[in-house]
Amino acid sequence: MPQRIYMDANAGAPLLREVRDSLVETLSLASNPSSVHSEGRRARGLVERARGQVAALVGARTEGVTFTSGATEAAVLALSPTLSRGSETVRLGRLYVGATEHPCVLAGGRFAPEDVERLPARADGRIDLDTLEARLAAHDYATGAPLVALMLANNETGIVNPVSEAARIVKSHGGFVFCDAVQAAGRIPFSIDELGVDFLSLSAHKLGGPQGVGALVSASEDLRPASLLRGGGQERYKRAGTENVTGIVGFGIAAELFGIYLNSVGELARLRDELEAGLIEISPEIGIMGRDLARLPNTTLFVVPGVAAETAVIAFDLQGIAVSAGSACSSGKVAASHVLEAMGLPFDLARSGIRVSLCVDASRADIHRFIAAWREIYPRLRQGRAA
Ligand code: PLP
Repeated sequence: MPQRIYMDANAGAPLLREVRDSLVETLSLASNPSSVHSEGRRARGLVERARGQVAALVGARTEGVTFTSGATEAAVLALSPTLSRGSETVRLGRLYVGATEHPCVLAGGRFAPEDVERLPARADGRIDLDTLEARLAAHDYATGAPLVALMLANNETGIVNPVSEAARIVKSHGGFVFCDAVQAAGRIPFSIDELGVDFLSLSAHKLGGPQGVGALVSASEDLRPASLLRGGGQERYKRAGTENVTGIVGFGIAAELFGIYLNSVGELARLRDELEAGLIEISPEIGIMGRDLARLPNTTLFVVPGVAAETAVIAFDLQGIAVSAGSACSSGKVAASHVLEAMGLPFDLARSGIRVSLCVDASRADIHRFIAAWREIYPRLRQGRAA
């Protein structure tokens, strides 16, 4: 039986060996980073080193990193109707979210549902900057400043949003910007200052780190969202609760390694392109989303007329290959992908998206096996069968 091939890095990248070793080592430390004894100071040192490693990945200042339980918590922390800037309280009247955002951002954080407005995507999946400009021009400043949430790279399609252009528009309207950089971090080079955003979110498990740890990164220490978890003074009063030292250490190492892997993403993009060429040769009628656009080097989302994504995912699984459906599955029914619907695809195509997301150690042999599997399963899928 050949080894399985995991091609679902965007759902969760496999734990890196170096990270696993550091987790095992750190687990046996019995210490709280707030304690003043040597053991506590050692734990504090580990947390602070990881903070520096995470900050370096996104060109941020070390003190701008607040560790959280993941990117979902980071989004809910940042999407707050009040911010503080020094001793001043800044009120945010309305949250504008891109229509292709991850559900943890679409949910609107701590804004009332009536204060959350969706910004349409263009047919190519990117945010429509003209609509952004028009919506901000019509913003009611009596309610407070606008907050705009835009992801850097989409988790389903890998398509990269023009975040720095959007941020310039938002800033010219006196607004604030939150950017979900979960999928982009370590896969495309960027820095928080180049993007021009106020906050960005990260998640360790997309980088080969452990699950249950992430970060909210702020461009300026001065600007803080209202705390979500109040209690102790951890994380400079931005997030109460004893730090997840083990998870944070693993996150730091993963961030450092992905900073190095950024140098070899060209090879990953070449493998992705070979995979796409193989798909098209076998099934010219498929559509590859964002093929000519700036995209993550590891991600392919393709739609297959007449094929339900879940059947294809099962067929790949039977061939020993893990991929995922672009669309979410709830109560046994495959829903259409909100991302593909936002791009204007009809229901049938919007539920046919298959996402392949390569891990950093993907090989040409993996791509060849994927293509061979598709050659075998595609004729069956067209007849509605997985096997
Ligand atoms: N944002 C994006 C783009 C994601 O892909 C995910 C995870 O799937 C999240 C946010 C949520 O991250 P976490 O699992 O750390 O809460």
